[in-house]
Amino acid sequence: MSLETNYDPDNIFAKIIRGDIPSTKLYETDDILSFIDAFPQSQGHCLVIHKKATATNFFDIDAAKLAALTVATQKIARAVKDSLKPAGIRIAQFNGALAGQTVFHLHFHIIPVYEGQELERHAAGGQANAEELAATAAKIRAAL
Ligand code: 5GP
Repeated sequence: MSLETNYDPDNIFAKIIRGDIPSTKLYETDDILSFIDAFPQSQGHCLVIHKKATATNFFDIDAAKLAALTVATQKIARAVKDSLKPAGIRIAQFNGALAGQTVFHLHFHIIPVYEGQELERHAAGGQANAEELAATAAKIRAAL
């Protein structure tokens, strides 16, 4: 997939927005949705998307929606920081398959980094246990 691809309304995050497939939600408004990554690189790895931006990547979202998405990403990242107390947090965003993007609905990753723990590989780890994800999500939601 190049940087110029058209938005596919049946991508997996569009299905999550529509409720066609389940997700472990952290935060939702009319515009923004944040949910836990199903193949987390670390405990608390989560994603933030704009529900109304049919943007595949960073380059095809309008400025107002990008601003809302960025502000929401900071809000969720603060809750991750306060609840899970990682040593560091990566905020990541990939554009184009060659750059590592695997889902073509613009999203920010929030990836906590813990002392002495290697991150799982991007989009290559195993699917996390649903109960563990739910427990982590409850901790993050309580800090929002
Ligand atoms: P990208 O590779 O596009 O930057 O990130 C896509 C992310 O979506 C990956 O970290 C991957 O683990 C996550 N992901 C893929 N499929 C699903 C899914 O069905 N549910 C959730 N919650 N995350 C997913």
